[in-house]
Amino acid sequence: MAEKKWHIRRNDFNGAEHISRGRDRHFMALALEQARMAYAVEEVPVGAVAVAARRIVGTGWNRKESTADPTAHAEMFALREAAAKLGQWRLSDVTLYVTLEPCIMCAGAMIQSRLARLVFGTPDRKGGACGSEYHILQDWRLNHRVNVTGGVLQNEAAGLLREFFATRRSRGIEPSGGLKDAATLPK
Ligand SMILES: [Zn+2]
Repeated sequence: MAEKKWHIRRNDFNGAEHISRGRDRHFMALALEQARMAYAVEEVPVGAVAVAARRIVGTGWNRKESTADPTAHAEMFALREAAAKLGQWRLSDVTLYVTLEPCIMCAGAMIQSRLARLVFGTPDRKGGACGSEYHILQDWRLNHRVNVTGGVLQNEAAGLLREFFATRRSRGIEPSGGLKDAATLPK
C-alpha cells in the first residue's frame, strides 16, 4: 500500500532564511543516521539534529532505556547541546530535525527554547504533539509558536521504526511503555 504523505505545511519562516526542501532532506538524512545509532543499541530509533546558520550545533538519539531516564529523548540531547554550543538557552535561530513527530515533553522544551522551526520525518498518530494528537507548537495560548514542517523523508523514518519493532516482535520482545510501536505510525 502506498504511504500516505503527511500534510506538509509551507509556513513562512520567521527569519530571512528561505526554506529549502533539499536542505531539509539533507539534514533529515543526518537525523536518520542518529536514529540508526539508537537502533544499534536496541533503543527505539529516533534521531535529531539541531541546525543554526546551516551548521549542525547539536545531535541526539533516543537512549531512554540505556539511561533509564524518561527525558532521554533524541530532541532533548540536541536542544541541550545546541544551547551549550551557542551559549544561550534561546534557540530562535535554530531549526530542529527529528525523525519522528515529537512528544508533548519535547514540544514543551521547544517552546521553552523559543525554537524557530521544527522539521520532522514521520507523524506519531498516538503521541505526536506537533500536529497529530496535539498542536503544542501552534497553540495561541502559549507565548511562542514554532513553524512546523512534517513528512520529510517520512518513508525512511517510518520504515526504520517498523523494522525495529518487527525485529523485536520476531524475537518475542514486546514494545515497552505504550510509546511508539509501529501501530502508531500512519498506515
Ligand atoms: Zn519526546
